[in-house]
Amino acid sequence: MSSDDELIALDRAHLWRPYTSSEDHEKRPLFVVHRAEGPWLISEDGRRVLDASGSWWCNNLGHSHPRLRAAIARQSERMMHCTLAAATHEPASRLAAELVRVAPDGLSRVFYSDNGSTAVEVALKMAFQYWQQNGRPERKRFLALPGGYHGDTLGAMSAGDVDEFTDIFRPLLFDVQRPPDAVDHQWEPVFEGLFALLREGADQIAGVIVEPMVQGAAGMRMYPAGLLSALREETQRADTFLIADEVFTGLGRTGPMWACDHASIAPDLLCTAKGLSGGALPFAATLATGRIYDGFRGDKSRALMHGHTFCGNPLGAAIAREVLAIYRDDAVLEAAKPKATKLAARIQSMTEITGVTAPRSLGMCAAFDVGERGYMGKIGWQISDAALELGAHLRPLGNTVYVVPPLNIEDADLDRLLDIVRESTERVLVSAQ
Ligand SMILES: *Cc1c(COP(=O)(O)O)cnc(C)c1O
Repeated sequence: MSSDDELIALDRAHLWRPYTSSEDHEKRPLFVVHRAEGPWLISEDGRRVLDASGSWWCNNLGHSHPRLRAAIARQSERMMHCTLAAATHEPASRLAAELVRVAPDGLSRVFYSDNGSTAVEVALKMAFQYWQQNGRPERKRFLALPGGYHGDTLGAMSAGDVDEFTDIFRPLLFDVQRPPDAVDHQWEPVFEGLFALLREGADQIAGVIVEPMVQGAAGMRMYPAGLLSALREETQRADTFLIADEVFTGLGRTGPMWACDHASIAPDLLCTAKGLSGGALPFAATLATGRIYDGFRGDKSRALMHGHTFCGNPLGAAIAREVLAIYRDDAVLEAAKPKATKLAARIQSMTEITGVTAPRSLGMCAAFDVGERGYMGKIGWQISDAALELGAHLRPLGNTVYVVPPLNIEDADLDRLLDIVRESTERVLVSAQ
């Protein structure tokens, strides 16, 4: 038995894979990754496969970036973990200042946690507790967009609306209001509906949570910046909090540092994870305004009642600092612009293939649909299987095929990836006709 066969056998026998039925787990092909480098996943015998889904949307600087490896090694020699309870350390305190510097205006406080879901839980709890102890206890409800995804813990699921993920858990979730979903990608009525809910219930609304510009898990659904800025105005008028879940969109995935920058807005709370650590370690932060922070002054009972064991973990914080340093030193966002232009053009041209619809892109995030929309669609998976044979690891969202390559991917590798996306899509759609 080759070592790969052994690993697969152990995996099939003992591992419980995310979002995968036990049936699929036993049958679907598995690519055993021994090493990863830049945009490549590499097998034991040296086969290289392009990581089109950025190892679940977080790998913004490529795998095994030499500076990130060095940063982890340096930090590991000093300290791998230490509590943030009445103690601090250089990575956590310097990173907080550095994050505030690159954050939208007014976000002046940083609360650390471990992943995107916890960053969202923290934001929801901050907003809720703020109103409870600052004279507006009737503000208990949250509003959100249809199709939002905010993570898989119960609070984050309550805010989310991807039915396939949340339906079965509905009885456990708290009520979050949202307007009816977009028809034919028309977002204006959706936001009008959201504003109507906001105006009607302003006195009871603790906050509005959205993925700015791009709804990732819903199928890389994109809406115009003007609607995001209108939402900012409406939340200000209602004097309630806007929570921007930038877990996926942050760190330049959509072009500027934050998707909020497309609309030149600053939210009251901002969640960041995924690319924050360059996709190298679980690490997250929730940023808040001074106003919200000040709502937690006073005696012990007014403290934010939340904290995680690995809050501000020095390895994670050191890596995030190095990520920000690389963005500065290599002008990562600037350098990604021509790549994003190329990506947009190539994705648009996918409609030359009959059956491809709704090509869309923003920064280094691009997608198109095949067949009926929906997470349970099967064509996306057929394309994914074809792509793996051709040398790319695609993970579709049902019948939405997307790519989120590293922002610093070499042009030749990006071309190769887009060639494979095209060829695998042709293979599946043309042969289906
Ligand atoms: C991935 C994601 C999350 C959840 O992050 P995890 O690290 O998987 O918990 C939350 N919000 C958005 C927008 C995401 O894309």
